[in-house]
Amino acid sequence: MKHPVLRRDIIAAVRSFAGLGLGVGTAGNVSVRAPGGVLITPSGVPYSELRPADIVQLNPAGEVISGRLAPSSEWRFHCDILARRNDVGAIVHAHSAFATAIACTRRDIPAFHYMIAVAGGDSIRCAPYATFGTAALSQHALSALRGRQACLLANHGQIALGSNLTAALAMAQEVEELSRQYWLSKQLRRPVLLAGREMKLVLEKFKNYGRRPVQKRR
Ligand SMILES: [Zn+2]
Repeated sequence: MKHPVLRRDIIAAVRSFAGLGLGVGTAGNVSVRAPGGVLITPSGVPYSELRPADIVQLNPAGEVISGRLAPSSEWRFHCDILARRNDVGAIVHAHSAFATAIACTRRDIPAFHYMIAVAGGDSIRCAPYATFGTAALSQHALSALRGRQACLLANHGQIALGSNLTAALAMAQEVEELSRQYWLSKQLRRPVLLAGREMKLVLEKFKNYGRRPVQKRR
């Protein structure tokens, strides 16, 4: 069995979903880029029962290289995103409650808060609806993720990307929290959106966000 550490990391990630507010049951899946292809959660196995050997290894075209279980029904968009996006090392797909609720309105999350910029733009796009597991859904997701680290999927959920699994999980959590805040704000009135100019400034600041060396105190 190749990549035992990555397999264990994937299992830990999906088991953390409930605690991170990313959903319950087996809705949601995770993939990680591995030498020669993709490691992905299998279809329909409760997270508590997952063992490293259950993680399915696919080649870049999405064909099973190793594993006795079927890959997640969403293997297609996982493989397509990893094939197109060299900057992405891991993908988290979740049906988290607030992100999904907003995705059911088929609208983007606008710049109601500057943190929207963590996903790489001045909104979090909502990909148009297509049936789960289809090539059409994969195409919609790729378009919605252009230049971005996350998107919503209409009447479905969210996709979060990262250079590694830790980053992808953090992005999924961020999308869920922003969705919750947006929903809360909409209960009060229509949120006042940040202007395009301000979001450009924030996006510029975010390019260096978290990467600066700590200043020495004298
Ligand atoms: Zn799904």
